[in-house]
Amino acid sequence: MIYGLDIGGTKIEIAIFNQQLDLQERRRIPTPKISYSAFIDALVTLVTQADEKYCVKGIIGIGMPGIIDANGLSLSANIPCVNNKNVAHDLGKRLDRKVAIENDCRCFALSEAVDGAGKNYSNVYGAIIGTGAAGGFTINQQLYTSRQGIAGEYGHMQLPASLQQKYQLPIKACGCGLPNCFEGYISGPGILFLHQHFGGDAVDVPTLVKRWHEGDALATITFECFLDILGASFSTIVMAYDPDVIVMGGGISLIERVIERLPTHIEAHLFTNFNSPQVIQAQFGDASGGRGAAILARQLHAV
Ligand SMILES: [Zn+2]
Repeated sequence: MIYGLDIGGTKIEIAIFNQQLDLQERRRIPTPKISYSAFIDALVTLVTQADEKYCVKGIIGIGMPGIIDANGLSLSANIPCVNNKNVAHDLGKRLDRKVAIENDCRCFALSEAVDGAGKNYSNVYGAIIGTGAAGGFTINQQLYTSRQGIAGEYGHMQLPASLQQKYQLPIKACGCGLPNCFEGYISGPGILFLHQHFGGDAVDVPTLVKRWHEGDALATITFECFLDILGASFSTIVMAYDPDVIVMGGGISLIERVIERLPTHIEAHLFTNFNSPQVIQAQFGDASGGRGAAILARQLHAV
């Protein structure tokens, strides 16, 4: 059996797969965020229960938010107790087996590339945009890994001055410590920020999308600006990786009109006569974190 542990800021989910990656079951528990020993104990309990139920010693992959650096140490704003800890090493030691670990957005990219929406392409970029914006690049169904584990963080590249001036935007501080990251404009909260910047009221994203579809002038101005900035941010992905396809997940990917129009807005930020890759919706959505972690575990043990 293969266990994909999808670790979030509030919940840990174990997704249990057979060797063919058919989901057998999933279970969720709250994430211990303060005590690291409680955090590791929780993972040990989930795995041990699964081992006992299926009478196996399952292999383990972990997907979690934040950066896992070259030494395996975590940096996560959402789960303070894992900072500077080597979760894969510590869990592996307790359970006497090798554990694979990767950023959850990179797990998403792998899941979609191996047997999701990107399975028929060689070079796949998986981008999640919800409350944040991050992703990962895969080549022939293998995750592209990098020296410090930060490749794929397109959401924390900086908004170009040309767009800053075009829309008279203020410089926004980002939670990562850098000024004016794309994420502050292209995430769900980013759209709402833009709407208020243009004089709109405080609404939620579904309401704003509904107004856009109804032709509301302010919602249209907001989404035109949003698409321009999102196109610029995805053009950095194309400039860096030139993927065959971009698979989008997260809440923003559910707005079909955004997906349809995005290639045109990407091309506006590319060299003349160069085109955008296809942009398509993810197949597995929220299930991708655990699924990608399980694929990572399978790849680790295939070596
Ligand atoms: Zn940032």
